[in-house]
Amino acid sequence: MEREVRVRFAPSPTGPLHIGGVRTALYNYLLARKLGGKMLLRIEDTDQNRFVPGAEDYIRQSLEWCGIELDESPWNGGPHAPYRQSERKPMYRQYAQQLIDSGHAYYAFDTPEELDAMRARLTAAKVPNPQYNSITRAQMRNSLTLPAEEVKQLLEAGEQYVIRLKVPRKEEVRFNDLIRGWVVVHSSSIDDKVLMKSDGMPTYHLANIVDDHLMEITHVIRGEEWLPSAPLHVLLYRYLGWEATMPQFAHLPLLLKPDGTGKLSKRDGDRLGFPVFPLEWHGKDAETGEPTVSSGYRESGYLPEAFINFLAFLGWNPGSQQELFT
Ligand code: GLU
Repeated sequence: MEREVRVRFAPSPTGPLHIGGVRTALYNYLLARKLGGKMLLRIEDTDQNRFVPGAEDYIRQSLEWCGIELDESPWNGGPHAPYRQSERKPMYRQYAQQLIDSGHAYYAFDTPEELDAMRARLTAAKVPNPQYNSITRAQMRNSLTLPAEEVKQLLEAGEQYVIRLKVPRKEEVRFNDLIRGWVVVHSSSIDDKVLMKSDGMPTYHLANIVDDHLMEITHVIRGEEWLPSAPLHVLLYRYLGWEATMPQFAHLPLLLKPDGTGKLSKRDGDRLGFPVFPLEWHGKDAETGEPTVSSGYRESGYLPEAFINFLAFLGWNPGSQQELFT
């Protein structure tokens, strides 16, 4: 059966929406509109430390100004509400437990000091990319190495723990990215990533996969900075038994500095005299904490239609001479 196309934009409210984020939202929106599908917005606010008050409102107003309409979101609801991850906590817990029960995840009780010592040992041994993986986990304090009775006692005593994914040692993980083509990664390069943090919150990886599955997402269109996470996500789909409905991935090239040397930042925009935000943003200086005001396209007098047309053509071309679209 053909599934209805369902795409999502999943920003974290950690600051103002950047032009790169608007472009990701726009590409999702255009695909949904072209294929008669649905466009969702989900707020990914599981990282309480990076939460910035006002950022969610800013995202909402920016998309409104750009004319990007949402079919389902925290503000207009929908059949899969709530659309804010902080309001969906019990669901993630349930799937983390499912992974533990099926042997694909485990409890890890290591303290920050123990983890630091582990990294220092690996660095001293010149291990190129120190991580908690199939080899290191054997020397750490987790439910794979400790006797079952001790694990039970630690859990009952309320000892702090995280839940980690048990990544297999020797396996090829592959998926077909709509932009990149086949991506093949050896599992030994994937970390045993934390799925549930010690504060009981899921990490991005678990929450993102659980929500994309439950919200019946068919295409994950996002920035290329998430490409390295995708193999881990493929493993999660497999271990949760959701491989048959795994979304298709499309990792978009990033918007770069004009000289192509890195990701476009607010500072590049300031230097070159163009804003990187859609609307004015009232923020704080990262070092001094002093209030700052950054201008946006709207305040600079750009029309939303012009802004959106320009953005659509960055990294894409319709194959014709047409330059203006509604
Ligand atoms: N919350 C992630 C972000 O802020 C979303 C990544 C994704 O689309 O999977 O970019």
